[in-house]
Amino acid sequence: MASSAPARHTPGTAGTPAVARPHGSTLAGAAYWGMVQRVALMAAAIDVGYIAMFLWLGSMPLAVVNIVSVVMYLVAYRLLQLRRNAGALVLIWLEVVGHATLGSLLLGWDSGFHYYLLLFIPAIVVANTRGLAWPMVVALLVYYLGLQVLCDLWAPLAPLPAASVKVVNWAHICLVFALSAALAGYYRRTILVAESRLRRQATLDALTGLCNRGHFVAQAAEVLDRSAREGTPVALMLCDVDHFKRVNDTHGHGVGDEVLVAVARVLASHMREHDVLARWGGEEFLALMPDCTLDDAAAVAERIRAAIASSALDVGTVQIACTLSFGVAVVHAADDLRAATARADAALYRSKHSGRNCVSVG
Ligand code: GH3
Ligand code: MG
Ligand code: MG
Repeated sequence: MASSAPARHTPGTAGTPAVARPHGSTLAGAAYWGMVQRVALMAAAIDVGYIAMFLWLGSMPLAVVNIVSVVMYLVAYRLLQLRRNAGALVLIWLEVVGHATLGSLLLGWDSGFHYYLLLFIPAIVVANTRGLAWPMVVALLVYYLGLQVLCDLWAPLAPLPAASVKVVNWAHICLVFALSAALAGYYRRTILVAESRLRRQATLDALTGLCNRGHFVAQAAEVLDRSAREGTPVALMLCDVDHFKRVNDTHGHGVGDEVLVAVARVLASHMREHDVLARWGGEEFLALMPDCTLDDAAAVAERIRAAIASSALDVGTVQIACTLSFGVAVVHAADDLRAATARADAALYRSKHSGRNCVSVG
């Protein structure tokens, strides 16, 4: 029987509304604030570009507005460096709302400054601060419509020629498209990270990284179905660390944990790609081996036993010598997992009673 290392379960081992932080964000806090910091810097750089554009178009008031914006983003950036995160967020939100409002009033509604307010909608809903997402969206809508009414009532306070306003409008459209895509990408990555973390938590043992019991049973059902269809034998190998309580008592639970991780690593290194290996209980491990006879499984168990017994496990500063006892059995049918596990358990019990550090077949 081949004994290659398994490929899986290796143990041990703005001014944009991106300011919205989802409740229970799955990104680490530092990663999130790092992202906001980058957004603040990027927004400052974009506004420097706008200063140049408005000087070129001959709109001094808008150039001044953008200078103030750059200053606000740089202050927000500095606040984030100082971990004054709440203050930075307030400043960034104020900049976006103030910039959109002033821009619309100075150049008129057609300049498109108001598009930036739309970026707040997904940000508000995702953050859902104090469960107030919908009232906040409605408040934004009222503000947005109110701004449009004001722009309709008042002529632009610092008008530019229609062609220049069109240039400004196009610049805003391009930027809002880019920001929306970046924002959606950020939320998508957040969801994917959360999904994979939840999947790991639901299926893997937190200490060793092997399958947990529930995932083992689910995987085993698939393996046994397939083996029943193909008429191939399936073996079970159950093992238990000998006198593990002594390891804990002598070296402490931390070292005990590291021993379990090291044992799991040795076990995994003897499994094939399609074997399913789980931490079955405290210091008990169970492997399901498809396309494997009782003799083959006993031979694998013997190899692992010898490997563990022959050299002490290197766990940090200490070397711990330990041994494993094994019980091996075959599974006869898909609904026989429980019975086969009981036979492997009985065989393991015999190994313990035969002096430990040995393999028994059931
Ligand atoms: P035997 O050879 O008969 O198996 O003796 P043993 O000492 O290994 O067995 P026993 O069942 O008496 O003790 C198992 C110990 O494993 C007791 C428990 O505290 C410890 N244990 C279970 N889970 C963990 C764990 O996650 N970390 C650590 N450090 N210890 C654990
Ligand atoms: Mg034990
Ligand atoms: Mg035990």
